[in-house]
Amino acid sequence: MIEATGLTKRYGAKTAVDGISFSIQPGQVTGFLGPNGAGKSTSMRMMVGLDRPTSGTVTIMGKPYAEHDAPLAVAGALLDAKGVHPGRSARSHLRALAATHGIPERRVDEVLEMTGLSAVGMKRVGGFSLGMGQRLGIAAALLGDPKVLILDEPVNGLDPDGVLWVRQLVRYLASEGRTVLLSSHLMGEMAQTADHVIVLGRGRIVADAPIDRLIASAQTDRVSVRAPEAARLAELLLRVPEVRVEHGADGSLTVEGVPAAVVGRAAFESGVELHELTPVRSSLEDAYLALTRDDVEYRTDAAHAFPPAA
Ligand code: ADP
Repeated sequence: MIEATGLTKRYGAKTAVDGISFSIQPGQVTGFLGPNGAGKSTSMRMMVGLDRPTSGTVTIMGKPYAEHDAPLAVAGALLDAKGVHPGRSARSHLRALAATHGIPERRVDEVLEMTGLSAVGMKRVGGFSLGMGQRLGIAAALLGDPKVLILDEPVNGLDPDGVLWVRQLVRYLASEGRTVLLSSHLMGEMAQTADHVIVLGRGRIVADAPIDRLIASAQTDRVSVRAPEAARLAELLLRVPEVRVEHGADGSLTVEGVPAAVVGRAAFESGVELHELTPVRSSLEDAYLALTRDDVEYRTDAAHAFPPAA
């Protein structure tokens, strides 16, 4: 369990985290979402004592992280995968970490095995790819067999196999009753991985809800339609108040503002042949974009900065 109360962090005049309160539960995967600069990393750093709150508190298993006698058994974190000496091997890095924290050496082999790094354990970390570095960061986070895992962008730089592996790993760890918090800017991945999401915007909580409920809240009337006489159908539909019609490059129409039944009836009554009539379900991306539309600190030109949900 991770609990924050009025958690605030200011850097000079900049408020990175603005009085947030939340409770992250064990036994499920919680996702931290938000545009760049929303305060996700700062919040995660404060959880493990790498940054000190300006005011408010955050505790892990009931106490500030630094007050635990065996911190690595309480929480493991992947925050900055670059913080490893490049001349060291993965194994010696993990062995040093284990020795400092009184963790038995055999655990090093276990986490190398769990993260698929056994074969490269003796190689210099300086020669690692970004994905291997991420795996090593996850291995370090798992070293103390912690009850709580805090992973900042864990799938960054991983290939599709690695992304799937992280998903399966965090789902498994949560199923064992651990608390798992991960941030990701990949909406599709988050939708498939998290049970619950906390959305941050400009240092504040914009949403804190089960992922299904969040997606359902963004559900609008949207219907995908295919018809040989698409142009005629579009013209008919545009006579209905509040209806918007978008023409797809593949000849399909996306109709917004009315349910599929209304589109079907309009086509039937006008004798327009339909080849497809499909209600479009909202995605986590739709919900996310609706929630954070006003909270993007550095607005990019397009929503395309966030790949579509799978
Ligand atoms: P996120 O992880 O959601 O992208 P961050 O927590 O990294 O957001 O940053 C939140 C805000 O705080 C940003 O505006 C960022 O520029 C600012 N910030 C983060 N760390 C520092 C720092 N060490 N000094 C000054 N400003 C910082």
